[in-house]
Amino acid sequence: MIPFNIPLRVEKEINYIQQVLNNKKISGDGEFTKRCHEWLERNFQAKKALLTTSCTHALEMAALLLDIQEGDEVIMPSYTFVSTANAFVLRGAKIVFVDVRPDTMNIDETKIEAAITERTKVILPVHYAGVSCEMDMIMELAERYNLFVVEDAAQGVMSKYKGKALGTIGHLGAYSFHETKNYSCGEGGALLINDDRFIERSEIIREKGTNRSRFLRGQVDKYSWVDVGSSYLPSELNAAMLLAQLEQAEKVNEQRKLLWETYYRLLKLLDLELQDVPEHCEANGHLFYMKTADLQERTTLIDYLSRHEVYAAFHYVPLHTSEAGKKFSVFSGEDQYTTMESERLLRLPMYYSLSIKEVEMICELIHRFYEGVRS
Ligand SMILES: *Cc1c(COP(=O)(O)O)cnc(C)c1O
Repeated sequence: MIPFNIPLRVEKEINYIQQVLNNKKISGDGEFTKRCHEWLERNFQAKKALLTTSCTHALEMAALLLDIQEGDEVIMPSYTFVSTANAFVLRGAKIVFVDVRPDTMNIDETKIEAAITERTKVILPVHYAGVSCEMDMIMELAERYNLFVVEDAAQGVMSKYKGKALGTIGHLGAYSFHETKNYSCGEGGALLINDDRFIERSEIIREKGTNRSRFLRGQVDKYSWVDVGSSYLPSELNAAMLLAQLEQAEKVNEQRKLLWETYYRLLKLLDLELQDVPEHCEANGHLFYMKTADLQERTTLIDYLSRHEVYAAFHYVPLHTSEAGKKFSVFSGEDQYTTMESERLLRLPMYYSLSIKEVEMICELIHRFYEGVRS
């Protein structure tokens, strides 16, 4: 049996978690949280990294930091996870969806400008499958129209765009360490702050609207309520598990890329449409997808694979077609690809402990499936 996902486990987790229990400092912002911050800042050249309880919460922090008000507009793809939109809807924003490119399933950068209005505040690129959006053009647009860029890099940890780590290019970036992602602590995330203007306030918002971080550094002699905020910091137990995984990130990333390349090479022989990684992007093998002819072929293939105990999965149902999406969002321009391409997209098993042999076996099954379909 080959499941769709198995969460990453590494040896040192237990050891680090034991240290937390011995230290008797289990709440947030202890030694392990600090070490995670340092690791992220050093390895990704980030100005400031703050662990959060989820990527959802990192995005909520971004909406608070950017002072999103009732009626402000946020531009994003409809082909994404609910949290990308919800974090801003919670502040009263109107979501403006832009179509995706069929080759990467990322927001089509050439269609963003037409969606900008006087109310637009934020462009929110989602780096689907850990493959970067066209950040040069997005940053240039943001500068020209005086907008902020928040990167949803939930799937993009260890990926790069022209040599820069995803999440460090926009004003703010958000990572996820949920168990379905490349590195995880069950539930967790991080906010990357790449603009000095937001650094001090980000610590306050994350600590219930207090200046507790400054107090802990000895910069003020007591801490008090200074701003809006919530509790966005994870416990040391989560940080300990995460640090153990981050320390193995290079090795894990190489293995995932190898699995990804094996899928790509073997399925390319079938002339299927596969995920493209543009030349100037370095991806992290977060997920592997192929496209079927249509929805019906995808359903048949999912059934076929599951009868052989291989579990494949479709992905997002476009947000603008959902019940809440109809209330809180509009689609700018034409839905040329979002709905059609999302119905054809199929994700194959992808996780660190998957073997090359298993990938070969899955590809062999898919070859056999298409021999049947095409004959
Ligand atoms: C996983 C994911 C999220 C949410 O991450 P959580 O850590 O579970 O809150 C947000 N956006 C995208 C694109 C994701 O893949």
